[in-house]
Amino acid sequence: MSRTPPLAARLRGVASSPVRDLLALLERPEVLSFAGGLPAPELFDVDGVRGAYARVLSGPGARLALQYAPTDGNPELRALIADRLTGRGLPTDAADLLVTTGSQQALTLVATALLDPDAVVAVEEPTYLAALQCFQLAGARIVTVPGDEHGVDPDALADVVARHRPVLFYTVPTFANPTGRTLPAERRAAVAQVAAESGLWVVEDDPYGELRYRGTPLAPLAAAPDAADRVLYLGSFSKIGAPGLRLGWVRTPAALRPALVVAKQAADLHTSTIDQAAAAAYLAVTDLDAHVRRLQDAYRERRDTMIAALPGTLPPGSRWTEPDGGMFTWVRLPGDLDATELLPTALAHDVAFVPGAPFYAATPDRSTFRLSFTTNTPDQIREGMGRLATALAVGAETPAAV
Ligand code: PMP
Repeated sequence: MSRTPPLAARLRGVASSPVRDLLALLERPEVLSFAGGLPAPELFDVDGVRGAYARVLSGPGARLALQYAPTDGNPELRALIADRLTGRGLPTDAADLLVTTGSQQALTLVATALLDPDAVVAVEEPTYLAALQCFQLAGARIVTVPGDEHGVDPDALADVVARHRPVLFYTVPTFANPTGRTLPAERRAAVAQVAAESGLWVVEDDPYGELRYRGTPLAPLAAAPDAADRVLYLGSFSKIGAPGLRLGWVRTPAALRPALVVAKQAADLHTSTIDQAAAAAYLAVTDLDAHVRRLQDAYRERRDTMIAALPGTLPPGSRWTEPDGGMFTWVRLPGDLDATELLPTALAHDVAFVPGAPFYAATPDRSTFRLSFTTNTPDQIREGMGRLATALAVGAETPAAV
């Protein structure tokens, strides 16, 4: 009798999340979901994107746009991204950039290029779930760096570096997923200094940085003078353009570029030629700043609506973040209320959130959950928060009753 060979060892510890399974099962149209980190589809520039694909496919470069292409990406697109980053305070040359299939692929490439099995990766706690999965799949050991409501504590990072010798520190310093927190300028400089002194690589993941609704923009951590040869900066069109394009990039120190190109070649040869060409054609004629301002205006109103509803929604003693941008607020319930146990009650009331536990690499705080404010209109947010208030009141009395 034949025996099915087991899965690769690297996959054994990476179970599908029971919460994800539950949310997928209950994806009913009547559920108002604050769970997924989805941009609002009605704000996608469908006409602009359609025009860009049409121009590429009807122009003299049509055949080239359907051909294999260089691994590091469309030169025109890289030049446009470099200009945009330079304008945001991160001087960048097209040659510093590698186009990736979403910034998620950049995480995989970084893991492939830098992590041996049992390598140590340092992360903030809590942090982006799919980054944790990516490092776990690479066989890395994850250690957490303490922080507070302003993000990671650079002294604690220095301490973790001294004790565990991580290869890299992964961070979302601007409007973090899942907390919405932003690392202040002094801490950015201090993190860069720790990296410069210790030889640590820093992976700055920044898909949300342009979605700012109040306050003054901060330069990326990668722009700190100490950080020039230590920080890999990841960006994406997913939140300012559309995630279905699957277009991201990594701005890499020159020393790592050849390794990342080899990792990318082995992964998918190159990111879709036609999608890159269409993105370049789109950016060449679009006022992306004006589009981002439209997103900011819509999302600011949604954020304000959700934050205003929180005191009337959550039980007394709850705490939450009030982010200056991005897509999420992070809630902590009082006492020993468990967000995972409350989720079925919320779903029974046709509203959804993501429990916080899976975002922790070490000790989960089970009283936390994440709410996304971008996908729903202000009216839907008010309705959904009403349902959540009822569900939390019911659930707090009889947890796991439904
Ligand atoms: N990093 C973070 C922090 C994210 O929240 C996401 C998407 N939710 C990604 C990376 C991946 O984005 P994409 O691959 O669409 O660029």
